[in-house]
Amino acid sequence: MSGGTAVVLFTRDLRVHDNPALAAACATFDRVVPLFVLDPELAGLAANRHRFLHDSLADLRDALQERGGDLVVRRGDPVAETIRLARKVGARGVALSADVSHYARRRERRLRDECERHRLLLKLFPGITVVDPGALTPGGGGDHYRVFSPYHRSWLATTWRDEAPAPRTVHLPADLPAGRLPGAPRADSPGLPTGGERAGRRRLRDWLTEIDRYAERHDDMAGDGTSRLSPYLRFGCLSPLSVARAAPDRDGEFVRQVCWRDFYYQLALANPGLSRTAIRSRNDTDWRTDADALAAWAEGRTGVPIVDAGMRQLRAEGWMHNRARLITAGYLTKKLKLDWRTGLDVFYRWLVDGDVPNNSGNWQWVAGVGTDTRPHRGFNPIRQAHRFDPDGEYVRRYVPELASVSGKAVHEPWKLPPDVRRQLDYPPPLTGYDG
Ligand code: FAD
Repeated sequence: MSGGTAVVLFTRDLRVHDNPALAAACATFDRVVPLFVLDPELAGLAANRHRFLHDSLADLRDALQERGGDLVVRRGDPVAETIRLARKVGARGVALSADVSHYARRRERRLRDECERHRLLLKLFPGITVVDPGALTPGGGGDHYRVFSPYHRSWLATTWRDEAPAPRTVHLPADLPAGRLPGAPRADSPGLPTGGERAGRRRLRDWLTEIDRYAERHDDMAGDGTSRLSPYLRFGCLSPLSVARAAPDRDGEFVRQVCWRDFYYQLALANPGLSRTAIRSRNDTDWRTDADALAAWAEGRTGVPIVDAGMRQLRAEGWMHNRARLITAGYLTKKLKLDWRTGLDVFYRWLVDGDVPNNSGNWQWVAGVGTDTRPHRGFNPIRQAHRFDPDGEYVRRYVPELASVSGKAVHEPWKLPPDVRRQLDYPPPLTGYDG
């Protein structure tokens, strides 16, 4: 590709820094059309993610305008709209970040067919992960890794690509109407973070001042000592490669967590059914059906304070601490014995960082139907609560009915004297923990 015009189809790479598709198009072509297509198929997107997406598109539009360009917005089928626009501006090619989900790959295949039909070049670029999903394969055979530790070793040993520079200028073809972004949709969670590359870069800058304490703090639930970068990675407001490179220590705990994200992406690429089909299918049986228990779990009223606190954080912020995700998911699958897919759906409805590889990959891991090498691992929420919220501060923050219970006693309200218990407007435990 060189000279002429190219279309860059944005999907979940909503940034100008280290965006290889945008950088290559701007370096190679005289004119570039940055395009986002509002796909009615995604209209049912959860309200929290919808709002974050909206913020991110508005911010991307600003960043492109500052560079002399714009974000061209169209509505409809992304493939049809891309081809229509490419033909209208006489483009020679289309650039796109390669992605792994079933939906994304179907879109990519259709786009490839249509580009061929219309004699347009389609070029795919990296950028959704640090290392390309599919780039690493185990020495002993197989097309992907099923176990994290060897994947991590191989991931650290491989050469990472260089970051792509943000384009200084973006030249749009003349007289191209940019199209309107719809008004900002309402989020479900009052504490939702603001989306966009600028907000993400600010968060990353602040995070780098505390990152050296990550290893000691990341499991302290009340300390809230994790990066909270996941929504920005989810929508590509930040490049995962830039995040991993910005960390002072590539062998450290923080970059190891970013590697988990890559691990699940390569797993999703190799398992197109990952979202709902268990990798270890023989363990995927005998789930109970109990609509009342599921509703109590989803609404944070199981009567197990650490579980309820996690689920209330999810509703309040559209985000949950990783340790709380492990505890709540472990409680649903290992204690209530409800199908992991029912819990996954609730997470997916609320999580601003919700995406198929990470959500389904982690749910399968917790339920013992995925890649955990110890699938029958127990998850005692009370023991977890005492260990990771030793003073009960996390519980009191999210479960105000228990605010008057001091210290670690808050984790087992059923052990309080009956007269104290009666004064709390808090349910008895659903099952099991009635001390
Ligand atoms: P940090 O601790 O600061 O970690 C930095 C980054 O590493 C994260 O932003 C994330 O991109 C990545 N990361 C950390 N832990 C994991 C992990 N276990 N798996 C994959 N990537 C990880 N993460 C999502 O991004 N989307 C999801 O839909 C999602 N669903 C989950 C469901 C369950 C049941 C569980 C147990 C975990 C899930 N996670 C998911 C992983 C993890 O909980 C979040 O990525 C993390 O809590 C985000 O907070 P942070 O950015 O502060 O993370």
